[in-house]
Amino acid sequence: MSRPLTHPRDEIMQTMERIYRSRMTTTSGGNLSIREPSGDIWITPARVDKGSLTRQDIVCVHGDSNAARANDRASAPHPPSSEFPFHKAIYAARPDVQAIVHAHPVALVAFSICGQTPQTRLFHQAHSVCGKTGFAPYALPGSEQLGSRIADAFRAGCDSVILENHGVVVGGESLSHAFQRFEAFEFAAKTIIAGRQLGEIHYLSEPQLAEALGRQVSLKSMTPPRATTEEMELRRQLCLFIRRGCRQRLLISTEGSFSARLGDDTFVITPTQRDRELLTPEQLVLIDGGQREKGKKASRAVLAHRAIYQRHPHVQAISFAHPVNATAFSVTASRLDARTIPESYVFLRDVGRIPYGVQYRNDGEIAEYLSASAPAALLENDGVLVTGSSVLDAFDRLEVLESTAEALINARALGTVSVMPAEVIRELRESFHLD
Ligand SMILES: [Zn+2]
Repeated sequence: MSRPLTHPRDEIMQTMERIYRSRMTTTSGGNLSIREPSGDIWITPARVDKGSLTRQDIVCVHGDSNAARANDRASAPHPPSSEFPFHKAIYAARPDVQAIVHAHPVALVAFSICGQTPQTRLFHQAHSVCGKTGFAPYALPGSEQLGSRIADAFRAGCDSVILENHGVVVGGESLSHAFQRFEAFEFAAKTIIAGRQLGEIHYLSEPQLAEALGRQVSLKSMTPPRATTEEMELRRQLCLFIRRGCRQRLLISTEGSFSARLGDDTFVITPTQRDRELLTPEQLVLIDGGQREKGKKASRAVLAHRAIYQRHPHVQAISFAHPVNATAFSVTASRLDARTIPESYVFLRDVGRIPYGVQYRNDGEIAEYLSASAPAALLENDGVLVTGSSVLDAFDRLEVLESTAEALINARALGTVSVMPAEVIRELRESFHLD
């Protein structure tokens, strides 16, 4: 882990703002904490509007005591969160846990009130990020009993725990680690709920999980020449759209990749294992002739991106993304038929399906699943793949794909979907010059 330089007050503020903005908590629910090596615990205050939290509102509880430290009490006028007892109990049970996120996000609450825990074998990413999952029986909020029930689950090695008729608690080695777990867990829960409306969910087997984990990519490194203004512009655009994608819930912070072409065999791509929402233009990686920019690690999907650029000269941007509703189609056998409205058909045409594992092999086969009439595809149990003639075009297609998927899922509650008939499709192809 890198040397932390952000004050716990600011880390808590930034993470709470992100959770609230993503609608993963209500204004009164949820609390976050960080344990310092000294034993001090920084935690969100009791009864303060999460939408207008200030850094002075964050409380520091000193060492083993339950009271806010005297010199902090003056500046932090609030008592610690009423859920402080369970934070303290988790830290006592697990020396490796240094940060905790607790909230009531809707999909995980749905599991909580049905007495279930989401199965994270849905995605290799959720399975590795969420760690061991567990379930803690109900007890009164703020009680020592709730603390001991949750601590029991953490003591048994769980990292992501559903609280019966309440919500979720996740622990991590840092607050950003705990946030990523929390986000991946809620994303898996949302995808299962949307997928269940489409049919039976397919979960990954042990060998399938191993296939994703075993993916090895090693590229030679090179020192690139001074960046052209075109490269600078592409880097800027990619960062803007990736941030927008995270905020629109089309991308998640721990998974997915985005690239833009600069030349025949040259492109700029997202790095591996970096929070996608916080990426800066300098962190993107230049790939030229199969070599990577020195000192940077490209996304593990880099060879899939390269194969697509090589096979399809018209493609200028590529994204592997995880929007909930389109991803729900990827975990079931249900077809995503884009003949719903003209916009969907014109942008998406025939949405293909790429069998699980193709994207982890470095044989370039993935490029065969795309064409001018199939610019987007579902990746079985791994989200979606979209291509475009520019960064904006790929992003636009990703948005249309997700809206189309959501409309198809919503329509199931209303009746039978009637797709546009052959003559309407013929007319669209002629008018929009679709080949
Ligand atoms: Zn709660």
